[in-house]
Amino acid sequence: MKTTVNEQLVNELKHVIPPEYIATDKEICFAYSMDSSPVPGHIPDIVIRPETTQEVSEIVKLANKYKTAIYPRGAAASLVMMGVPIQPGGISLDMTRMNKIMEIDEDSMSVTVQTGITWGELEYELKKKGWYTGMVGPGPGLSTTIGGAISVASVYYGSAKYGTACDILLGLEVVLPTGEVIRTGSAALDTAKRHTRYGIGLDSTGIFCGDQGIMGVKTEATLKLYPVPVATGFFVYGYNDEDPLLKALHKMTSLHIASDIGYTDGASGLDMGGGPERFMIHGKIEAHSEKELEVQLELFDEIANNTNGIKKGDSLARMIFHDSIYMVFPMAGMSGNYGASCNKMPIFESKKVHDLFLNYREKHLEEIQKHKLVTVWYTFISGSTIDILPQIQIPAHDPEALKYGTELWKNFIKEELKYGTIHYWLGKVIGDQVVEHFRSNYFEFIKKLKDTLDPNGILNPGLLKLP
Ligand SMILES: Cc1cc2nc3c(=O)[nH]c(=O)nc-3n(C[C@H](O)[C@H](O)[C@H](O)COP(=O)(O)OP(=O)(O)OC[C@H]3O[C@@H](n4cnc5c(N)ncnc54)[C@H](O)[C@@H]3O)c2cc1C
Repeated sequence: MKTTVNEQLVNELKHVIPPEYIATDKEICFAYSMDSSPVPGHIPDIVIRPETTQEVSEIVKLANKYKTAIYPRGAAASLVMMGVPIQPGGISLDMTRMNKIMEIDEDSMSVTVQTGITWGELEYELKKKGWYTGMVGPGPGLSTTIGGAISVASVYYGSAKYGTACDILLGLEVVLPTGEVIRTGSAALDTAKRHTRYGIGLDSTGIFCGDQGIMGVKTEATLKLYPVPVATGFFVYGYNDEDPLLKALHKMTSLHIASDIGYTDGASGLDMGGGPERFMIHGKIEAHSEKELEVQLELFDEIANNTNGIKKGDSLARMIFHDSIYMVFPMAGMSGNYGASCNKMPIFESKKVHDLFLNYREKHLEEIQKHKLVTVWYTFISGSTIDILPQIQIPAHDPEALKYGTELWKNFIKEELKYGTIHYWLGKVIGDQVVEHFRSNYFEFIKKLKDTLDPNGILNPGLLKLP
């Protein structure tokens, strides 16, 4: 891979895209060396901001010609060194000018967007027409992009009912790493609309779901639409013990009624409040009539009642899940930087990792306090699994704390992986460790796919230990 600015490449790029959308200035390139993690990436040589699929295709073809790495980037809200150069130099491909809604198809209940649009913008426009996407983005959805979320199979708002960003996905338009443009899902047929994902021989959309952006540049995505619910209710239940709490959580999850459910643990470091009980289940139910909402909330009250849960005021749930604050993430990096992981586990099984986190915190408490780190245990439901988020928040202005906190965070990831935790935003930090746990032949399988699609290894090289 080239590591110095290739003037010839820059000149050719200027024939593809207006020069004002190409930058080689050190200050601009430096800004593109970071995501939101405590670990900085490398500085790209070129930053480029395309507006159309055709431009992306031409850029990718030129990158192949000059054997130059490309790092697609949405909002760069990733927490694990991704969307940034993993190796020095290359092209940072900023997708945020590709932010148009291409089509709202009310007949097939779908919307097609350019992938650089943010969740906030999309949901705002859709709601004007009485639609939303059910799963409405990750925590920082106001600013993060659809393309970024599909690339890491993001979860959060609406995920208890609607799953991941990839579960609401019907198809993609992708610029392959060699520059060809394909459509997946029903639009693979020259006669069909973008109305369904399967039925074209194989789930080619799936190759690009959660791929960390290594298999192609997603330029357009078609998402499912649902009517905006007319009634919304919140619930909070306090628990003193973890076992009945998990039992209640499991029951509530199995019904797939709530759009959002999570629980907090006041003994994990940061107490998110709600009452004297240590644990708080909190969540949101969306319904299509007040009557439906009432029945569903009553059902949840009954589950809580049968498991020794104590019904509380709903402010904690409103604070976290009310869409008007989408998203002032209450526990996000209050102390500066954010060493987090986010893992899916079966609900009862997750207790083992919770214990691991509490023991880990206890073992390192003196240093944690010395460096003013803040630990947080947060969870939420995604589909039928629980997403557990052990966090170590790090005061970014203090180099010693940053060094210590970052190591503490990375070492905890190593430990939790032994318990079968499934991370989905992997980046460099987590991805390298996950690869170590691939069953035999799986890495070879991924590598064969990658080599076939990206023979010059230009797209996001260095992720998942791929060249
Ligand atoms: C405070 C905070 C809270 C968070 N909460 C959540 C959460 O609740 N749930 C969650 O899932 N994540 C969460 N995250 C992580 C992150 O914000 C999300 O994963 C988000 O979806 C990333 O989107 P992005 O636009 O920032 O993508 P980026 O970070 O810019 O990119 C992510 C990856 O996708 C690739 N990529 C981006 N766009 C494209 C494209 N068009 N084509 C191909 N590849 C592409 C990049 O190369 C990179 O590898 C959180 C982050 C922060 C800072």
